[in-house]
Amino acid sequence: MLSLKKMNLHEDYFRSIMFGLQDGLVSTTGVVVGISAGVSDRAIIILASFVAVSVEASSMAAGQYSSEKAVHQMDKSGKHTDSLIKGALLMFFSYLGAGLIPITPFLIFPPDTARPFSIVAALIGLFAIGFLKGKIVKLGALRSAVEMFIIGGFATAVGLIVGTFLKV
Ligand SMILES: [Zn+2]
Repeated sequence: MLSLKKMNLHEDYFRSIMFGLQDGLVSTTGVVVGISAGVSDRAIIILASFVAVSVEASSMAAGQYSSEKAVHQMDKSGKHTDSLIKGALLMFFSYLGAGLIPITPFLIFPPDTARPFSIVAALIGLFAIGFLKGKIVKLGALRSAVEMFIIGGFATAVGLIVGTFLKV
């Protein structure tokens, strides 16, 4: 069985990873599909997506560092034994790794074909992350998967609507 204790994973690292994976999938899908709805040049779509995912991953890592530092400064319980740098790096790589999932179809197929693949890949990714989270926290993996699928799917849908409407 998976568990935070067995994996020797501090809960703050776990939060960084979950947040990074979910946000990386949701935001990048909105960006890549939004850009591809308004721009037909595949090279520009791919370049803009890589720029967006790198900038976002760095920004999220910086945000993770600063917000966790504030929590550590306020907390006197001594349970925050986690490293701020490690938390920020976990956020960066989780975000970047998940963000590559909706971009990958655009590396393989022309934009109109890649778009549905990208959305489906992101939704499957959300489901998988939710499932894994449920296993780790030992609270109904399927329920956790469906919850992540709905929350992430809703956020993705909003991103797609805005992206399509604005035609970046
Ligand atoms: Zn902490």
